Amino acid sequence: MWLLGFVLGTILGSFAKATSDRIQEKVSFKKRSYCQSCKKTLRWYDLFPVFSFLILRGHCRFCHRKIPLGNFLAELVMGILIALVFLATLPTHLEQIFIADIPHLLLLIDLLFRCFIVTVLAIIFLTDLKLGIIPDRITYPAMIISLIYLILTTVLVSWNFYHEVVLIPFGKYLMPPYSAYLTDNIQRIVMDAAWSLGAAVISALVFFFLIVITRGRGMGWGDVKYVFLLGLALGYPNIVLAIFLAFISGAVIALLLMAFKKRHFGQTIPFGPFLSLGAFTALLFGAKIINWYITSLKIGS
Ligand SMILES: [Zn+2]
Repeated sequence: MWLLGFVLGTILGSFAKATSDRIQEKVSFKKRSYCQSCKKTLRWYDLFPVFSFLILRGHCRFCHRKIPLGNFLAELVMGILIALVFLATLPTHLEQIFIADIPHLLLLIDLLFRCFIVTVLAIIFLTDLKLGIIPDRITYPAMIISLIYLILTTVLVSWNFYHEVVLIPFGKYLMPPYSAYLTDNIQRIVMDAAWSLGAAVISALVFFFLIVITRGRGMGWGDVKYVFLLGLALGYPNIVLAIFLAFISGAVIALLLMAFKKRHFGQTIPFGPFLSLGAFTALLFGAKIINWYITSLKIGS
């Protein structure tokens, strides 16, 4: 199964790199894949991620100029990341996926959404690193898809809960007018979604004030919108972890760059790539990291 994830990841990696390059070169997303040197449309058999690069030994079939190594690396890294997504999301017993009920439908929706979000993280990572911008063409559609995901999963989880209560013998005594058990739990599920929305708004507001205070040095409007998107996609408390990890890794890299005299103090580095890294870690390992943190707090006190 991780192999399927890897293959899908290489395709998504190729797509993410091409999308980022097209934003830079201001080329339509609809144009077919082409060589960046001679602009010739690629043959279908040269479109296999990773393998085509290896078979062509990193050179264009037409003009024989070098294909950027970044293309190959993006495909390889995304292959590994999506393989991790598959491992972290899917059950160990594969035949379970084919059970047709709501929990397994939710699992499949989660898997698709995570692959989508990781691709968005990769596109923004590459684009912000190279151009220092986080394009609205990416964040706005991703916000809409994240919102649909949030609503869809909330409805499905609520419906599944109702369905399970109905199936219990005497289940009707858990429903109004006998008991508030069902309504309380559905209220809790809806509140979870409201928390995600709230976390997105609050995180974006925090970044907005950071920009006002620092007068736009280091961070920009793109980061505010990106953080809002991440709040919707990750929910609470994962968004807090993602931002925390982004600041830590950003500070470490900034100090290293200054130490090696690559940048001087006050010179800005784009923050989007760090948000992407923090978000990926929180998306896959958020629950584990937060659990570990809470347990270590309890031992400490
Ligand atoms: Zn070429």
